[in-house]
Amino acid sequence: MQFENFVGNAALKSALSGAFLRRRLPHAIILEGESGLGKRTLARIVARAAVCRAQNRDAAPCGVCPSCIRSAAGSHPDIRTVSGSGASGAVSAKSVEEVLSDAYRRPEEADVSVYLFFIDNGISDNAQNKLLKLIEEPPPGVIFIFTVPSADILLPTIRSRAQIFTVRAPEEAEAAVFVEQKTGMEYEAALALAALHRGNIGKMLSDGENGRAAKAAFAATEIALSAAERTEHELLAAAAPLLKDRGMFLETADRLQMLFRDACMLKSGVRTVPLGTLETAQRLSRRLSVKTLMTLCDLTARYAGYVQRNANMTLLVTAFCAELRKNAGR
Ligand SMILES: [Zn+2]
Repeated sequence: MQFENFVGNAALKSALSGAFLRRRLPHAIILEGESGLGKRTLARIVARAAVCRAQNRDAAPCGVCPSCIRSAAGSHPDIRTVSGSGASGAVSAKSVEEVLSDAYRRPEEADVSVYLFFIDNGISDNAQNKLLKLIEEPPPGVIFIFTVPSADILLPTIRSRAQIFTVRAPEEAEAAVFVEQKTGMEYEAALALAALHRGNIGKMLSDGENGRAAKAAFAATEIALSAAERTEHELLAAAAPLLKDRGMFLETADRLQMLFRDACMLKSGVRTVPLGTLETAQRLSRRLSVKTLMTLCDLTARYAGYVQRNANMTLLVTAFCAELRKNAGR
């Protein structure tokens, strides 16, 4: 099976590929994992592979056969999608009833019918009980794929009849390469974004739309480390992106304050610092005292205030760097 646009998750891929090659895909598959990890992408890949007409199953979904072209366009008659609806966004009993009346017909083009249930905001017990009937006695040649934040939101009776796969974020470096290739973002910025979102590509991409969050996170790390352990010249270079506009300064200032605060927390023995910023926070906490870190945090907030009052950016960034260094005891 080919997993275009779905990176990482080697064990999961090899399990699905293996089952697919042996024509033994489970009739009920649960893909669980937080939002942004590509559960829907993966569900669609499996569905497209299942209806692909390529002789070589290793190549499926081949992307070029008539089935693949239709499924890529979202118009394959044997792939149906069920999503939540209404104010709650939950999957309703009515949607499941429609599947019930549909699932026993023969597939129109392929050998199988695939039903994708995209469950982001829950599914009522009533709907699940109806679904259970289908899964207990599945019509031949039907595959159900559920995407859920956690399999725990499904009834144990459904879970026990399905195969559960947990989708995880890829390595941060792998996520960064993917985002770099998809967006043209520089690798360093993509890597900073990957650290911020712990390799969650969906979050990286929606965050990276204007690129600012990524650049701000990267700039904040560089500024903090430069202030603590590098030369004045390096600090000024790290702060150069802040000259561009006020928004960039403010966003970077936010991240900087978080870094200084995280480093304080580490010094106080709190171990809840996010992984993405842990290494930087650790380095800061080894270099600087709690008092210094708090001073730097206040200093950063004060300069963010100056920026909002329309100061000259060049003067401001230069003064900010000088004060950071001085207060870091350099
Ligand atoms: Zn194909």
